[in-house]
Amino acid sequence: MDSLKIVMEYFDKMSELENKLYTVKCNPDSESHLLPVQECCRVCNSKICTIICPAGVYEWDEDAQKLVVNFENCLECGACRIACESCSLGWEYPKGTKGVTFKQG
Ligand code: SF4
Ligand code: SF4
Repeated sequence: MDSLKIVMEYFDKMSELENKLYTVKCNPDSESHLLPVQECCRVCNSKICTIICPAGVYEWDEDAQKLVVNFENCLECGACRIACESCSLGWEYPKGTKGVTFKQG
């Protein structure tokens, strides 16, 4: 398969995913359930959480040298917890009735 075809398939899949994200309901908590250790993030080479998260929860702020966490958008898939380069990311489910509700489950 040539590289253009792979890229086009990737963008098709991302577009499907973005459409599906509109079907997810969320009742965000007032406090973050995702707690990165900022000292680890500052020296993290990959910042893989900013790439792997399907909901774009993490953003690296170069000026502030800080990982910004838009926890309200979290889909609770757990990928960032597994992928975290230093295994330092604090991760819990949101409390009680807070967090995400999927239409079919
Ligand atoms: S992968 Fe882990 S250590 Fe690296 S920026 Fe993300 S949360 Fe921080
Ligand atoms: S659990 Fe999934 S959706 Fe939530 S921040 Fe981590 S990668 Fe993103």
